[in-house]
Amino acid sequence: MASLLCPVCKNTLLKNEKSLSCAAGHNFDLARQGYVNLMRGGGTKKGHGDDRLMVRARTAFLEGGHYGCLADRVAKLASEHVQDGDCVLDVGCGEGYYSCRVKQELERAGKRVDLCGVDISREALIAFSHRTKDATLAVASVSSLPFGDASVHLLLNLFAPQSNEEFLRVLAPGGTLLCVFPLEEHLFGLKRAVYDRPYENPPPDYAPEGFSLLHREDVRKTLVLNSEEDIRNLFFMTPYYYKTSREDQDKLLSLSQLETPIAFGIFLYEKL
Ligand SMILES: [Zn+2]
Repeated sequence: MASLLCPVCKNTLLKNEKSLSCAAGHNFDLARQGYVNLMRGGGTKKGHGDDRLMVRARTAFLEGGHYGCLADRVAKLASEHVQDGDCVLDVGCGEGYYSCRVKQELERAGKRVDLCGVDISREALIAFSHRTKDATLAVASVSSLPFGDASVHLLLNLFAPQSNEEFLRVLAPGGTLLCVFPLEEHLFGLKRAVYDRPYENPPPDYAPEGFSLLHREDVRKTLVLNSEEDIRNLFFMTPYYYKTSREDQDKLLSLSQLETPIAFGIFLYEKL
């Protein structure tokens, strides 16, 4: 398994029975579900990271296969850039839907990897631990990754904040950064159902320093949701739900069918 670093002194954390500790005596409890909280100040506070409602909604929605077209392409592309024994880190991993697909795809190709995930949401990591016990999971920020320099071979970032400096630090030379961004029309049908004047997303504008672009592709599909539950879950997993008035929320929650484009840009970069 990949080693985690102490967030205080950056020494390697060693596993004890129910905790991780470093040589300087900093100690972090291992949760019963297997993740460790490395956020200073106790980690997830109220409103910090995805709450339970959002995680449950997203888990149910993703399990329904609605974003399967994206997961398939991410898994396929990732598998082309990973060797047996490599370390794969998913930043802002959520409940691990995409990274577990990557791991499965790699295992099908006979490659075993160290899968690591960080997220600021404990709820998301608990859901991740239900998917697999074979992953190193930590509550940590994208801007302070608890991994050693040049220790990661593939870094996955689907919809999480960027932290170029940290990504360059943890990636090995020649390592791969796979990012996914929502494209302009992503979820426009949902926005149109909620807002009087919906706006398209800005186009992805990301040119990370120290990387060269290896590949870009777009994944587009029209999603047709025929159940109130699917519509509700999609809405709850987006930021729109949390930014929308009760009146506008009710507009969407009263629908029995929703048609919307989904559109993702996949960008693969190589660390120079
Ligand atoms: Zn320490």
